[in-house]
Amino acid sequence: MRSEYQIAVFEGDGIGPEIMVPTLEILNHLQSKTSAYILNYNKCDAGALYYSKTGESLPESSLKTARASDAILLSAMGLPNVRYDDGTEISPQIELRKELSLFAGVRPVTLYPGQKSPLNIPEGKIIDFILIRESTEGLFWSQGKGEVTKDEARETLVITRDVSEKLFKFAFSLAQQRKDMNQGKGLVTCVDKANVFRAFAFFREIFDEQAKNFPQLKADHAYVDATALWMVQKPWDFDVLVTENMFGDILSDLGAGLMGGLGLAPSADIGEEHALFQPCHGSAPDIAGKGIANPFAMVLSASMMLEWLGHQHGNQALVEDGLELKNAIGNIISDGTSLTRDIGGQADTAMAAKAIIAQLA
Ligand code: NAD
Repeated sequence: MRSEYQIAVFEGDGIGPEIMVPTLEILNHLQSKTSAYILNYNKCDAGALYYSKTGESLPESSLKTARASDAILLSAMGLPNVRYDDGTEISPQIELRKELSLFAGVRPVTLYPGQKSPLNIPEGKIIDFILIRESTEGLFWSQGKGEVTKDEARETLVITRDVSEKLFKFAFSLAQQRKDMNQGKGLVTCVDKANVFRAFAFFREIFDEQAKNFPQLKADHAYVDATALWMVQKPWDFDVLVTENMFGDILSDLGAGLMGGLGLAPSADIGEEHALFQPCHGSAPDIAGKGIANPFAMVLSASMMLEWLGHQHGNQALVEDGLELKNAIGNIISDGTSLTRDIGGQADTAMAAKAIIAQLA
């Protein structure tokens, strides 16, 4: 069992540093209570601000640090007014997913007891599902490769057998894990548009092949448009959803909406060799510098990192601390005090972070 872990830390742009600083403080607080692990943070430059100063979005040295680390913690990157000549934004967070083959974008949609949602949830129904967004190809394969003439623009969607097989295997294994923990229904739904596009018929075919390796689980299909409807009408029926990159990008914000906002939506981008943890939201330039950003999604992403590291290295203390951190935030949400403004409270970033430490104590 290893007990010292290297964590690459990308503070990013906008509210990024404002939510990363308290997150590291909270992780340090957990570390101070145990001798079972040590986290060493290695800060990495990247992002829109860094690009505007240096002309580089993701320097080779940062990529090298990320590759050499046990896990990567990233806040948010990109600024709408910092763009390449072709009009697209600086987005090293997407480059990292591709560079490190982080194909499985894990986005939990969980409502804690008492958590406000725009939905009227019937008595006894629980919202607790995971959306897995393929994160290296699909329509995002085309990033930087689109062709634009005066009269026409083209972007190409790519789905490969290799990545799809790994993705579906990951989705079924996660559903099995959730079932074993009495958390899930043992159901995996492939979300596609196989009624119209050959690429999605291919995606679905590979899903069905992989499903045969997990006969104890249920495998289902749904079209992406109907899935958007059902996420609003009956999200309690889902367990694990797995989909293409662009569909997942959009549906995960819908999932964040069900949870009351992006400030509560964590994520993990997982590959076979590396894993990166970051909130679903962006750099929120509209509130940057005001000290009012919600740190919960960032801290929940850090809790996913602890759990993942613990499972990877057989370190139970890390798994338990990850769960404790998640429960601490769940308690604060249920209690309703110390919530930031985006989710209906009055707390600023520092107050919300302090409440987490108080819960842990
Ligand atoms: P955004 O997620 O930054 O903000 C959308 C809205 O949610 C804003 O009103 C913002 O104030 C609010 N919000 C987001 N996170 C919050 C938090 N933690 N606390 C309180 N309120 C929060 O999306 P956007 O405005 O479309 O994008 C801003 C920039 O971020 C863009 O440059 C975009 O490309 C980038 N971006 C980065 C990522 C990433 O790093 N993974 C993801 C999405 C967008």
